[in-house]
Amino acid sequence: MEPLVFQPLIKQIRWGGRRLGTVLQKPIGDAADYAESWEVADQPDGRSIVASGTYAGRSLHELMKLHPAELMGRHASLTQFPLLIKFLDANDWLSLQVHPNDQQAVRYNPDENGKTEAWVILDAQPDSQICAGLKQGVTREQFAHHLADGTIEETLHLIPVKAGDCVFVPAQTVHALGPGILLAEVQQQSNLTFRLYDWGRVGSDGKPREVHVEQSLDCTDFTRGPVNPVTPDQTRSGDHTVESLVECDYFCIHRHTATNPFCIPVDDRFRILMLLQGSATVKTGFGAAELKRGSTVLLPACSIDAEVTPTGSSLILLEVFHPA
Ligand SMILES: [Zn+2]
Repeated sequence: MEPLVFQPLIKQIRWGGRRLGTVLQKPIGDAADYAESWEVADQPDGRSIVASGTYAGRSLHELMKLHPAELMGRHASLTQFPLLIKFLDANDWLSLQVHPNDQQAVRYNPDENGKTEAWVILDAQPDSQICAGLKQGVTREQFAHHLADGTIEETLHLIPVKAGDCVFVPAQTVHALGPGILLAEVQQQSNLTFRLYDWGRVGSDGKPREVHVEQSLDCTDFTRGPVNPVTPDQTRSGDHTVESLVECDYFCIHRHTATNPFCIPVDDRFRILMLLQGSATVKTGFGAAELKRGSTVLLPACSIDAEVTPTGSSLILLEVFHPA
């Protein structure tokens, strides 16, 4: 099975912008609110469709059923693709939110998963900030009190971010993205989000948007405290640097920086590659894909090895895979 490139699923939301098109070359129109590009998705309301080649028009979901061994290898028994991969363009504060873990998720919906996620920042304004966790020592009671009296911001761990930062956000962590941030997002395939606070704003109908205070408080881990950008382990061979950004139960993220060709082994597990800078050709024994900035490709588990050849100057490539 050849490398699979999917049609991006573009979502317009009020906090979006235009950088999915202007920077990442996604097909956008004339509006100003392009917020998310779902690159690899297997949700009831968003299923990735192969864009070209032998499997053009087929969904990822169908291919998992038709070719489980080739596509998924050691994960052939899965019935839903385990990861959701996106680019996001945030131009306003997103609502403050929290996601349940796997055990909590099934209490709300037996078919749902928890959501652990990670962000790799591609671009940010000098004053861009995120919320990642709570200040040290904030208890459920204090948090609920500040939420009720409109002073929630005093409890949040707000930090500046810049291009290149990676922030790992485990399930049960209160979080939000601030304005000016373009990023790649890797998360568990899940659609369970509880909104805590919307920064005092109202929706298009003039009313505050719905918040889920009880569920949010029940799902938050108040022992976690502040979360800061990761300090990656780095290995270097010649001009090829590999940084291990995240290794968790759900996904691993490596970041490759290189100017010369290098090889990515595909050991009976799928690999997802996201090109963040430069351009490249990716070749397996079964086919090839041309990548430009903003391209995502899924290498089926049967790919054996992938050879990545930069076709311009230095490239930056994310490699995402399942840890087990
Ligand atoms: Zn989230």
